[in-house]
Amino acid sequence: MKSIAIFCGSNFGNDPIYTEATKELAHCIVKNDLRLVYGGASVGLMGVVADQVLALGGQVVGVLPEKLRDREVGHKNLTELHIVSTMHERKAMMANLSDYFVAIPGGIGTLEEIIEVFTWAQLGLHAKPCGILNINGFYDKLHDLLLSMCQQGFLSDPQYRSLIFDNDPGRLLDTLMRQQVTYHSKWVK
Ligand code: AMP
Repeated sequence: MKSIAIFCGSNFGNDPIYTEATKELAHCIVKNDLRLVYGGASVGLMGVVADQVLALGGQVVGVLPEKLRDREVGHKNLTELHIVSTMHERKAMMANLSDYFVAIPGGIGTLEEIIEVFTWAQLGLHAKPCGILNINGFYDKLHDLLLSMCQQGFLSDPQYRSLIFDNDPGRLLDTLMRQQVTYHSKWVK
């Protein structure tokens, strides 16, 4: 069984569309027989995706740093919950456990997580597809920034194009599951 890491907000956002899209994504995860790997919390969209996958009979693995157990309210009913010591351990374990990475709307924690794994792909540290669920145009400005980096010669065109933006959860997962990531990095021979 393959696993997908979902990076998501610890808040719900101001528009119910984010919760609805998260539930739809959970449905697509279960339909595609994927195991969910996420941050282990029960707050915000993190809780929504975990609850919905579990409700649909899917498997959910959480990875939560000890210090965040209270603040992010560790989820009690996961298939597996790993308590780790640091944020770095959390990210490394989530990356190792996952075959695909997707960010849905969230805050700076979500942004940091998806950009970090995207940079790891650039460095050739993994060859796992990365995607963005661009609900409500939430990530349009990130897309524009990456395009600008590409046009200004700071990001290679194949690397830029390897980060898939889509507003449809089912189509996004289809694309990622078909994607062959190759190393585009000048750092990897
Ligand atoms: P946010 O998108 O800010 O609501 O945060 C979503 C999740 O990302 C939460 O579980 C945060 O604990 C987590 N997070 C925040 N900062 C970082 C970081 N530097 N590395 C990894 N996870 C983080």
